[in-house]
Amino acid sequence: MTETEGLLVRSTGSWYEVLMPSGEIIPCRLKGVFRLEESMAKDSNPLAVGDRLLVAQQEGDHVITQLLPRRNYLIRSSPKHRGARHIIASNLDQAVLLVTMAQPRTSMGFIDRFLLSAEAYHIPTLLVFNKSDLLDGKGRGKQEAMAGIYRKVGYEVLECSAATGAGVEEVSKKLQGKTSLLSGHSGVGKSSLLNVIDPSLELRTSEVSRITGKGMHTTTFATMHFLKAEIRIIDTPGIREFGITDFDPQEISHYYLEMREALPGCRFNNCLHENEPGCAVKEAVEKGSISTERYQSYLHILQDYRSQYLYWEK
Ligand code: GDP
Ligand code: ZN
Repeated sequence: MTETEGLLVRSTGSWYEVLMPSGEIIPCRLKGVFRLEESMAKDSNPLAVGDRLLVAQQEGDHVITQLLPRRNYLIRSSPKHRGARHIIASNLDQAVLLVTMAQPRTSMGFIDRFLLSAEAYHIPTLLVFNKSDLLDGKGRGKQEAMAGIYRKVGYEVLECSAATGAGVEEVSKKLQGKTSLLSGHSGVGKSSLLNVIDPSLELRTSEVSRITGKGMHTTTFATMHFLKAEIRIIDTPGIREFGITDFDPQEISHYYLEMREALPGCRFNNCLHENEPGCAVKEAVEKGSISTERYQSYLHILQDYRSQYLYWEK
């Protein structure tokens, strides 16, 4: 039996589409006794878009026989079984969070939750402000201030308009040759942006929504899109935030890049940076090296986390 390496580009949980070295995308099924590694036993889906697989041909059928090691992955808690993990995508080079200060305006809390989860899974994030054409002077000022906060933390921030095309080339350059997870609220312009980057995508996009937009499989199935210049985009319809599970409240501040630096200075090593004496994070906030806004969003997330609010859905 010869096996060929393929790339999972779409999955509904019951069937899989795999990109083969020939360039063909082939529907595959999972081998009957697909062996799960022990660490995967609590995953509600054995395979995720982005997975590298071995595929064998058996009696005319293509069968997935093995999952190759994942470089990284993102999860959300399974909607069906709380506590179980649902892997959304794997082997990502980066995440791109599309936001806007126009409609529907993205909150800082939302951005910080996303960044926190991506940090927890070691996935670098690029922040892109879309709909720049809709900003008046005041809106522009707000966007500059927010962009400044994230740049200071160390994130790369771009702005664009899918409507006018301004800034799209810069975004496109950051995507070249990479696999990126594209995320953001519904309506921020994700599809519009992709269609401006590669107009030939349009057909495939509508095709996807025909298959997954209605009927039984409405929400959670990710798809990989192939655009010009080796741009690979993983789109996760219906999922706007990713689960942070399996970690202690103390860890949240480790995923705030600017807090991570201050942590060793806290008197208590389990400091939650609320009212503890000798807290280096609070000191940094007072001195202005950590922004008040980021600190406030940290406190909110901490509270949510405490009240078992472990994942966020639409
Ligand atoms: P998605 O849900 O994130 O995929 O968002 P869509 O791409 O469907 O866009 C939602 C709406 O915003 C559509 O009516 C788009 O025409 C509009 N839109 C997207 N990008 C821009 C932009 O840069 N400027 C303006 N003015 N409208 C935009
Ligand atoms: Zn502290």
